[in-house]
Amino acid sequence: MSRKTICVLGGGIGGVVAAVSLKKATRSAARIILIDKNTEHIFAPSFLWVLAGQRSAEQIKRPLERLKRKGIEFINQEVSRIYPDDRSIVFDDQVMKYDYLILALGAESNMPLIDGLEEAAINFYSLEGIGRLRKAIDEFDGGEVIVLVPSNPYKCPAAPYEAAFLIDHELRVKKAKKNAKISIYTIEPLPMPGAGPQIGEAIKGFLANRGIQFFPNMSIDSVDAVSKTINFKGGESKRADLIITVPPHKTPDVIKNSGLADESGWVPVNNKTLETKHKNVFAVGDVTKIALEGRYKPDKQLSLPKAGVFAHEQALVVAENIAADIKNEPKKREFDGQGACFLELGDGKAGYAVGNFYEVPHPVVKMRTPSRTWHLYKVLFEKYWFWRWF
Ligand SMILES: Cc1cc2nc3c(=O)[nH]c(=O)nc-3n(C[C@H](O)[C@H](O)[C@H](O)COP(=O)(O)OP(=O)(O)OC[C@H]3O[C@@H](n4cnc5c(N)ncnc54)[C@H](O)[C@@H]3O)c2cc1C
Repeated sequence: MSRKTICVLGGGIGGVVAAVSLKKATRSAARIILIDKNTEHIFAPSFLWVLAGQRSAEQIKRPLERLKRKGIEFINQEVSRIYPDDRSIVFDDQVMKYDYLILALGAESNMPLIDGLEEAAINFYSLEGIGRLRKAIDEFDGGEVIVLVPSNPYKCPAAPYEAAFLIDHELRVKKAKKNAKISIYTIEPLPMPGAGPQIGEAIKGFLANRGIQFFPNMSIDSVDAVSKTINFKGGESKRADLIITVPPHKTPDVIKNSGLADESGWVPVNNKTLETKHKNVFAVGDVTKIALEGRYKPDKQLSLPKAGVFAHEQALVVAENIAADIKNEPKKREFDGQGACFLELGDGKAGYAVGNFYEVPHPVVKMRTPSRTWHLYKVLFEKYWFWRWF
């Protein structure tokens, strides 16, 4: 059996889990090469703890070079082109051939999509942005804070609500809440609509209990950076003292340039095996589009939310199946749509939403009663994550 070359593009959650699992499963039968344009893995599920002052930026990163200790080759380059028919990728004018390719390139911010957004708002989906937000909250002494969700899909559908809860808590601690108003303006009809009306109503209840206002179905036209005014489609405008935003998302350019995306801009995959339409090319995590069979309203198609929990499980599925293929064994594992996420509520408490997005007639997701225990579980999960994969 000749030694296979497996290229994993992206050293985020999906890429790291895939590369480490593949090395363990294939040992000397395969060369595992992980390529990322950054030198570090950044664990985004801990971003909001940087906002809350519970983590520094350094604490939630790991050097990807460290994967070499596990026998994985790491190349710090931006991949510029993928040629599935030729089984090759291009970076820095070099061409590399592969036997198997895993796309784990994630989703990127696309702030210029909305006129004025980049200049007026803090994008808290980047480590730099979350640091700026922490500073802005430290300096904030009253006024209106607006959290924006301008477009769909976006990763971690809980994050804008968690950001609002944590900002609320921080302002209470520094006794600035009585002079402050926090509102969420979202394009969505409900918080986390993919998880269903029960979860949405539960989150609306948590918002109402804290006096955080919720404005659904708000589509942004533009933002005036000088006056900090958000102009919504339909004519309404709203001024704020501090605007924070989920960025509009897009796939990395290499996906589009290589013809791997469909009309939605994301990579369509088999919803159980994560195979793309190209032989031996798989995609996991945020870069994918998985249309769900179940729906809440007959005319409203749903997609699997973009979240680390899915990137992680999908990477395990792909790694096991590639390892089996190399050993001429049948496929071993299928992705089944199960997932869970913590919902940070501030004051050391969290909720926990768990369920299955592949259920029909619609996804079934339940919210566990918020408590300090769920927050502690998330802390333990973060520790486990870094220990297990680095
Ligand atoms: C604020 C926030 C909170 C979150 N909280 C949670 C949570 O609590 N639970 C949860 O499950 N999920 C959470 N998420 C979502 C989670 O972080 C993502 O869904 C997850 O990281 C997706 O993994 P991925 O491997 O698909 O992509 P990523 O982790 O984004 O990794 C993509 C990698 O590809 C690299 N890359 C991109 N383009 C190129 C290129 N051309 N060449 C080389 N490398 C490239 C990038 O540098 C990056 O390292 C959160 C996200 C945010 C922003």
